[in-house]
Order: sequence, then structure tokens, then C-alpha cells
Amino acid sequence: MKQMNVLVVGAGPTGLTAAVELARRGVNVDVIDKREAASGWSRAVGIQPLSLELLRPSGVAGALLEEGIRFQFAKFYREKELLATMPFALPDKELSFILGLAQDRTEIHLRDALERYGRVHYGVELEEVSQDEEQVFVTLENSPQGLATSFDFLIGADGVRSRVREQVGISYPGFDLQGRWSIADVNADYWVHPDALTICQLADGNLAFVVPLESNRFRVIASTADALAALPLRMNVTSIRRAGDFSISIRVAESFQKGRVFLAGDAAHCHSPVGGRGMNLGIADAVELARRLVDGNADGYSDCRHKIGKAIVGKSEQARKILTATNPLIRLGTYGVMKLVDRSPFLQRRVAMQALYD
Ligand SMILES: Cc1cc2nc3c(=O)[nH]c(=O)nc-3n(C[C@H](O)[C@H](O)[C@H](O)COP(=O)(O)OP(=O)(O)OC[C@H]3O[C@@H](n4cnc5c(N)ncnc54)[C@H](O)[C@@H]3O)c2cc1C
Repeated sequence: MKQMNVLVVGAGPTGLTAAVELARRGVNVDVIDKREAASGWSRAVGIQPLSLELLRPSGVAGALLEEGIRFQFAKFYREKELLATMPFALPDKELSFILGLAQDRTEIHLRDALERYGRVHYGVELEEVSQDEEQVFVTLENSPQGLATSFDFLIGADGVRSRVREQVGISYPGFDLQGRWSIADVNADYWVHPDALTICQLADGNLAFVVPLESNRFRVIASTADALAALPLRMNVTSIRRAGDFSISIRVAESFQKGRVFLAGDAAHCHSPVGGRGMNLGIADAVELARRLVDGNADGYSDCRHKIGKAIVGKSEQARKILTATNPLIRLGTYGVMKLVDRSPFLQRRVAMQALYD
């Protein structure tokens, strides 16, 4: 019997996970990425235990766990006032923390796993896609010698501006948030919570987050310009390693499949960083799709993951709206709820379950 061959477009966390999962099951898989080399710019930093469980069979979870920081708490502030300490402890779960690791490091561990079976072709851009009942045909820019131009299946893991999605004509309904968010990676010799995720609700309805990356290295994200200036608590920054801004769209593709072409990760859904779910969702899409392709029931993938993607994007957006509300009544309500969570182990377990395993 002919071995199945699959082209994965995009070597971000989603594409790499799909490739590892297919390759370790014996599928002939090629990954292309239009970048000249792997990206050193990390966006995601929070890995859910659910993702770690999905990445366990490939051995990637072990490598991530060895390197990452285990966050056992989230701290929730309104300006300078600490409203709640949220432990992630779940007594019946082996992994009850969020793992902090820069996305480029997560991608390195996925690439290492993939290198046991094959390699990513960098500098290769997908231009066109067409398909018939049996094959998917691609036009590639800068294709290396020996790389096929027809495949049994194609996975579009090519991010928010997916060319694959556009080529097969799947729409991406939703909207773009106004304004730009900012991000800074810094070295600092003082920060109040070097072992917890910190979320600060600001007086003007904006948000700032701090995620420790290593000892004395922190990621600051804000829903406004200049993440460091937005931070209401003292951080002694000794150097800024990198700073930038980004825009946010809230979108879910109308379908995650067209014939033999599938979408996964940001190509299929995107939302704000509130909840830190984007990369985790992409990893779960990839694992599900790889399993279904191998088992021969890939046609159920779109329905299954579309439902989940839509629900998570909806929840993240709901949380973003509540946390950035300027309406005094909503702000009062959030304040009260946070104070309640701070005192109630029952509510803390419910929130932890959502944050870690939803
Ligand atoms: C500031 C910030 C913080 C975040 N924090 C978190 C977090 O803590 N936890 C979390 O889970 N998520 C987080 N996210 C979201 C997360 O970064 C994304 O969801 C994740 O990177 C999506 O991965 P992906 O592989 O689907 O797409 P991408 O990472 O965008 O990768 C797509 C790849 O496809 C390649 N490509 C595109 N077009 C082509 C083409 N035509 N041909 C070949 N290659 C192509 C690109 O070069 C790229 O390498 C955050 C996002 C931001 C902006």
C-alpha cells in the first residue's frame, strides 16, 4: 500500500506539532515555512497541562517540563491593589500548573522531535493550492529539489493571514480590535512576583500582564501602547531585550476543511492573548487532525475542532470585554468577584480547571 504523504504549511507550534504527530505514526510528512530560518521572537509563553499531556507520547512534553517554569499561582491586581491570589492547585491532577516557556524554545523542542524523522524546509513559500478527489497540488516558491508538488493531504498551519485558507476559499469571519497592544521582553533585578503570572486591571480599562521567563527575565504585555509604561507596579528594568506592538483580530474560519485541505491553529482561529490559549488550541488541533488522518476519519475534524475553537474564542473575548470594561458597575462586579475568588477554594478550583484543562 502507498504510504500517505502530507504537506504541512507553516513551522509554528501548530505545524510542527502536526508534523511530529504524523511522522511518529509513520506518515511521510514535509513541512515548509517561508521564513529563512526559525523565528527567535516568542509570542506565546503559557503552556497548559492539557497541551503537555498531548505532547507526552512524542517525548516533547518531557523536554518542555525540564526547561519551563511552573507557575502555581496567578496574581490579580486592580492598579496597585492585590485583589486575588489564584492557586492553580488541582488535587486530582498530576500537572496542576501553567508552564512558562518562550514560544521559540517550545518550537525548538518540537523541531528536535521532528528531526528524528525529517526536516523543515525553510525559505519555501506556498503560492497556490488546487485539488481533485485524490490529491492536493501546490505551487511553491523556492522549492528544494526532490520535494513533491502533489500530496494526499495538506495542512494549513500558516497563521492568521493564511494563504492556504485564501487559496481554498474558506472565509474568516470576525473583526479586528481597534488600537495596538504592546509587548516587551526585559531583564529586571526586581519584580514583586517572580514565580507567578500577574494580571493588572488598569484604571482606564486597559490591561497589563507580567510573565516570568527565567530568573530576572520577564515578558510584559499590555492592551495599550508601551507595555512598561502601563505597568502600575514597580519593576526595576535593567535592559530591554525586545519591544514591539501588535494588532488583534477575533476570528474563526467558517470551516476547518475543504476537501483534502485542513486548517489548524491561527489559520483557523485567532483571539486576544487574554487566557493565553492560542498556541494551546493550535497544538490540540494538530494532535486531533494527525490522529484522524492516520485513522482515516479526518472528515470529522472540522466539526469537532470548529466547535471547540469557537467556544474558546468566545470565552477569551468575553473575559477580555469584562476585564477591559470601563463601565463602573461591571468594574465593581469584577472587583467583588475577585475578592470572592480570593477567599473561596471552591471557586479557585473552578477557575483553575478552566485555565488549565478547558
Ligand atoms: C503577544 C502574544 C502573546 C501570546 N501568548 C500566548 C500564550 O501565552 N499562550 C498561548 O497559547 N498563545 C499565546 N499567543 C498566541 C500564539 O502565539 C499563537 O496562537 C501561535 O503562535 C499560533 O501558532 P501557529 O503555528 O498556528 O501560527 P504561527 O505561529 O503564526 O506560525 C505560522 C507559520 O506559517 C508560516 N507561513 C505563513 N504563510 C506561509 C506561506 N505562504 N508559505 C510558507 N509558510 C508560511 C509563517 O512564516 C509562520 O512561521 C500569544 C500571541 C501574542 C501575539
